[in-house]
Amino acid sequence: MTPALGTLAFYSNFDDFNTWKNALQAQLPSLEVVHSSAIDRPQDIHYAMVWKPPEGFFQQMPNLRLIINLGAGVDSLVGRRDLPQNVPITRITDPQMSRMMAGYVLFAVLRHAREIPFFEQAQRLGEWAYRHPRAPGETTVAVLGLGQLGATAAHELQRQGFRTLGWSRSPAHIEGVGCFAGMEALDAVISQADIVVLMLPLTPQTNKLFDRERLERMRPGAAFVNVARGALVDQAALTDLLRSGHIGAATLDVFEREPLVAGDPLWSMPNVLITPHLASVAIPSSSARQIAANILRVAAGESPDNMIDPTRGY
Ligand code: NDP
Repeated sequence: MTPALGTLAFYSNFDDFNTWKNALQAQLPSLEVVHSSAIDRPQDIHYAMVWKPPEGFFQQMPNLRLIINLGAGVDSLVGRRDLPQNVPITRITDPQMSRMMAGYVLFAVLRHAREIPFFEQAQRLGEWAYRHPRAPGETTVAVLGLGQLGATAAHELQRQGFRTLGWSRSPAHIEGVGCFAGMEALDAVISQADIVVLMLPLTPQTNKLFDRERLERMRPGAAFVNVARGALVDQAALTDLLRSGHIGAATLDVFEREPLVAGDPLWSMPNVLITPHLASVAIPSSSARQIAANILRVAAGESPDNMIDPTRGY
C-alpha cells in the first residue's frame, strides 16, 4: 500500500473543491485533501493548491513542501511578501487547458477575420450586406507569447491558413509561424498584424507593455485580442483608440480591474466583445495527473515539474 502522503490544503473561490478533491484522490488515494476552511492539523499540510489565497494564508502551514497554483498565470502569487522561503511553486500547464485556450483564440480571430460583428449588426437591421471574404492567408495574426498556451494557439492559427507571426522573449521555432524574439522586434511584429493576440504572462517587464504609444503603432483598423492579463494594457488608451477607430475591434477576456466595473465605456462599445475571464480554465480530470506526479516527486525528495521562476516572474 502507498504510504500516506500527508495533507493537501485547497483554496479557490472559482473552482469546485469536491471536483478537485475527487480528481486528486482518484490519482492518489492516500492523499488527504482538505478545504482551507476546515484545516485542523496545520502541521500535517505538505501541499497547498491555491488560486488567489488571502494574505498570510501560508503562514499557518509550517511544513509546507509544495505550492500548486491552480492555473497557468502566476502573477497573483509571485511577488507576494507572505510566500514561504524555499518552497517550490508549480503551475498548471495542461494540454487540455491549451486546447481550450486555442479554441477561444481561434474563435476570436475567425470572428474578426470573417467580420462577423458586421454581419450580426446587418442582420439586426434586416440587411443582406454582402462583403467579399478575404482568404485566410491575406490576414496576418501576431501571437505575443509563445509559451504553453501561445504556441498551441499559433499552431492552430497557421493551420487555418492565417499568416501567423509569433513573439517571445527567447527565440522559438513553430512550424509555419514566423517567430521573433526580444523587445527590439516587437514593434515590427505588431505593425504588420491585422489581429494582435496577447498571450504573455504579467511580469514587471510586460506590465503596461501596451501603453498608448504601442497601441498607436498597431495598424489602423487592426483588431486586438487580450486573453492574458488586463494589466498588460493601458485600458483607458485602448478605449480611446477603439472609440476613434484606430483599433478597429477588440475581444477582451481580461481587464485591469475584474469584474469590469459597471458603466465602464467598454461595456457598450459595439466593436468590443467582453467575456468574464474564462478563455481557459484548469480541467480537474486531466490536470490532476500532473499534480499527482509532482506530489509524488516532492514526497520522494525530488524537484517538481512545471516550476515557476519567481525571479523571472513566470
Ligand atoms: P508560459 O509561461 O508558458 O509562456 C509565456 C510566454 O511569454 C513565453 O513564450 C515567454 O517567452 C513569453 N514572455 C514572457 N515574458 C516576456 C517578455 N518580457 N517579452 C517577450 N516574451 C515574453 O505561459 P502560458 O502560455 O502558459 O500562459 C500565458 C498567460 O496566459 C498566463 O501567464 C496567464 O496570464 C494567461 N492565462 C489566461 C487565461 C484566461 O482564461 N484568460 C487562462 C490561463 C492563462 P520565453 O518562451 O522566451 O520564455
